[in-house]
Parts: sequence; structure tokens; C-alpha cells
Amino acid sequence: MSGSTGRPPEVAVVGSINIDLVTTVERHALPGETILASDYTESLGGKGFNQAIAAAKRVPTHLIGCVGDDAFGARAMQTAEGRGVSVTEVAHTDTPTGRALIEVARGGENRIVVAPLANHVLTAERVTAALDRLRPVAVLTQLEIPLDTVEATASWCRANDARFILNPSPVATLPPEILAVADPLIVNEREAEALLTVLPNAERVDVTDHAAAAEALRRVARSVVITAGAKGATFTDEADSGHSAGTRVEVVDTTGAGDEFAGTLLAALATGETLGRATILANTSAAVLVATARSRR
Ligand code: ATP
Repeated sequence: MSGSTGRPPEVAVVGSINIDLVTTVERHALPGETILASDYTESLGGKGFNQAIAAAKRVPTHLIGCVGDDAFGARAMQTAEGRGVSVTEVAHTDTPTGRALIEVARGGENRIVVAPLANHVLTAERVTAALDRLRPVAVLTQLEIPLDTVEATASWCRANDARFILNPSPVATLPPEILAVADPLIVNEREAEALLTVLPNAERVDVTDHAAAAEALRRVARSVVITAGAKGATFTDEADSGHSAGTRVEVVDTTGAGDEFAGTLLAALATGETLGRATILANTSAAVLVATARSRR
């Protein structure tokens, strides 16, 4: 299918690639204490990596990012390619592949420290050059990479009539020029609450009323989607507004649900779906993901 511009719907995800190093512990260590883990696993992640894999299930998808010239980087590239993601624009650098150090205590409480490493050498120049070569119809990015790289991605999209989709996670203060191009801005309730604080009279918006919060955020972005876990997602653009109820599933692991949602939304919009229809498709894909064990995804 063709995108709304008539070009083939190739998309790009500009973002992070990490290896998650996960230890299972009885309880978290106290300051200065050393404890032994009862289990250890490694899995690939990073928002860019996860979102690209989700999008590639539907449309040709390029990942633009940076990994280290190391075994973790090689493994990430092999896995992404195996899932149909083009990695020709992933640079291999002297800086090691990004790592998330995750400690899961009994009861499921997490402590996470992310070392961005190679993700922080993904420069604006590198991304702009990659986008010039690829010329995608739509681009999705997040905030696990330098802010000026996100800014350059938004500028490239504006100048080249490509759709810019922003998942501002982890949430940070953003220049209004970036938000103004977001079509849509994809946020969960926490992120919506943080971004609403920049609006005048924000205190009058009840963020738990997602329709009202989405409408308020549309004063700063072109369109908005608010995700709400098992409750589904609410969307608004200039043509339509609505809510897509969550799909009932038996939850196995919710890790990466937001990324699956964002990647699917990118792919659906690139093939010309409306925001409402893309939200329904993204909701379904993300529900399937949470019902699937991480090892079988
Ligand atoms: P995460 O940071 O864990 O990836 P998030 O906070 O960014 O997630 P959520 O709003 O929790 O995002 O989830 C994104 C989407 O995933 C939801 O809008 C929904 O479509 C789907 N989803 C998440 N949890 C569930 C669930 N328990 N049952 C069905 N669908 C779910």
C-alpha cells in the first residue's frame, strides 16, 4: 500500500539500542553492601530497537542508531535484521553499546540504571545524513538519544514533508518547536502530566480524563495519543477524537508494551490509516505482546 504522499511507505525509527543486563535478587542491596543474585539474563532492548521491530512487522523499516563495536552491538544488529529491520544506518562506534542495568527484587520491584554510551554519540549530523539517504515517509523517535538529535529529526521531517511521530520517553522538557511538529505525540498518563505543566492553566486539566488531557496537549502538538495500559488508548487529531478500549488478555509481561504500540502506530499511519484506525491496530498489537513471554517474542 502507498502512504498519503504516494511514496512507498518506508519508515525510520531514530533511537536507542541497548542490552538489558537483568539480575534477580531477594532484596535490593543497601548502600555500600554487596549481595549475590539468584539469576541473571541478558536481553536486547532500547526504545528505538523495540519500536523498529514492531514497525517492521508491517512496513519496510530502517533503524537509525549507534552501537559499539562489540559483541552486544553485533548481537543487536543480527537480531534486528532477523526481524526484518534494515540496519544499514546503524553506526558502529568506539563507544560501547548502551546498557540498562536492571535489578529485579522479589515481588517484582525494579531498579534500573541506564548507561546510554553509544546512544549518546548518535549525532544530529549522522541522523540528518541518514534521513537524506533513506527519505522515509514517516519517522518515529524518543528521548533516549541527545535532544539536539531529536530536534534535527523533527526539522528534517518538517523540511521534507515526512510525518514526525514523537514518543517523549523518558519525559523531559522539550522546546515548543519539537512538540509543534509531533503528529502524533504518543504519551502515557505520567508523560502527559509532565508535558501539560508547560501549558497555561494546566492545573485546570484533570490528567486522568484522557480525552480532556489529549485535547489540551493538542494546543502544543499536531495530534495526540494517550496510552493507558489495559484501558487502551485515547486519540485526537484535527479530523477526529476517540478512545480504543484495551484488548482483554492474560498478562504475561508488560515490558515493551509502549514500544510495540508506538512502532505499530508508525507503520499503520505510514500506510495511510487514520489516527483512529492506527490506534486500534496499535492497541491490538501491544495486547498480543503483553500476553507473550519475552523469550518467545
Ligand atoms: P511501558 O513503559 O511498560 O512500555 P507505557 O507506560 O509506555 O508502557 P502503557 O500505556 O502501559 O504504555 O501501554 C501501552 C499500550 O499497550 C496500551 O495502550 C495498550 O494498548 C497495551 N497494553 C499495555 N498493558 C496492557 C494490558 N494489561 N492489557 C492489554 N493491553 C495492554
